[in-house]
Amino acid sequence: MPASDLQVSSEISTKHSADGGKYADGVNWDDLSFKVTPTDYIYTMKCNDGDEFSQGYLIPHGNIELCPFAGILNYGQGLFEGLKATRTEDGRIMLFRPKENALRMKMGAERLCMPSPSIEQFIDAVKQTVIANKRWVPPPGKGALYIRPLLMGTGSVLGVGPAPEYTLLIYACPVGIFHKGRAALNLYVEDKLRRATTGGAGGVKSITNYAPVYKAQKEARAKGFSDVLFLDSVTGKNIEEISTANIFILKGNVVSTPALINGTVLPGVTRKSIMEIALDFGYQVEERVIPLEDLLQAEAFCTGTAVTVNPIGAVSYLTKRVEFRTGKEALSQKLYETLSGIQTGRLEDKKGWTLEVN
Ligand SMILES: *Cc1c(COP(=O)(O)O)cnc(C)c1O
Repeated sequence: MPASDLQVSSEISTKHSADGGKYADGVNWDDLSFKVTPTDYIYTMKCNDGDEFSQGYLIPHGNIELCPFAGILNYGQGLFEGLKATRTEDGRIMLFRPKENALRMKMGAERLCMPSPSIEQFIDAVKQTVIANKRWVPPPGKGALYIRPLLMGTGSVLGVGPAPEYTLLIYACPVGIFHKGRAALNLYVEDKLRRATTGGAGGVKSITNYAPVYKAQKEARAKGFSDVLFLDSVTGKNIEEISTANIFILKGNVVSTPALINGTVLPGVTRKSIMEIALDFGYQVEERVIPLEDLLQAEAFCTGTAVTVNPIGAVSYLTKRVEFRTGKEALSQKLYETLSGIQTGRLEDKKGWTLEVN
């Protein structure tokens, strides 16, 4: 271990004992949203192309230095992940299914020709990040510590091709409960721009997936919609995803979600968990191609780490508008309560989905 790492470790312990407080100062925990709040430490681990990741370490949160030739800056060779650490009423800090994020990063790294940390390395790095930033984990019921792992080609390249060096970087940021009051979404179906293409990188968490969504989102928001629902790029007839979340529909006893075929739908950890909970509730769960017309059904909702489960109130396509059932009686509400109950320790975790950190 280099001397600088030792220095950082001792700094962590003094900082915590000097601080003495359980929570970071000057934060209004009742008014957290999804905005930038720098915390104390970031985790970083490097690896040359063709090698394996080895020793990572914590450094104080701050700006990072990159060579202008870095693969990530020029050719977008990078992946991101997102997961949450939650504080329970009885003082535990829990992660939700971090192994799933580790596996997804591995899949994405394979698609973008990058080395990836092992499952154990990923989970250990996430744990270290949470522990080092413990005082930023919001009090129970106020939100979560959002953890953002990035895997980046940080080595210099000019000719198009994989970078010679890679960095796993993890930072954390406290976030509030998304959509307080759980307002139903008013979605606009984008009829021209596409989020993902068959055989492209839409099915992995590539950093290049989001910027192409901004234009459709901006236009929809200017018209008063909350977000965009994207259609498949081949036929333009089937629904795939909302910009940042997976979509579900309910008809009778059947819960359906677009299948993970063609690599155009992101395999959400929340999506996977909600399918399991719906099955436990006694619903039939289907992953299939969902034509836009099938949206004329009883209920629709979306899932993702940031929103957990959010009801969809209406969907508009060209001049048509369809409204859905929302509110206390909606299935999305029950699914939300169960999933957030497990994540926050209010409900017993019978599935082994949570991982205690402290
Ligand atoms: C991350 C992401 C999701 C949701 O995945 P979770 O693992 O549930 O957070 C859905 N769609 C896209 C495009 C995403 O990037």
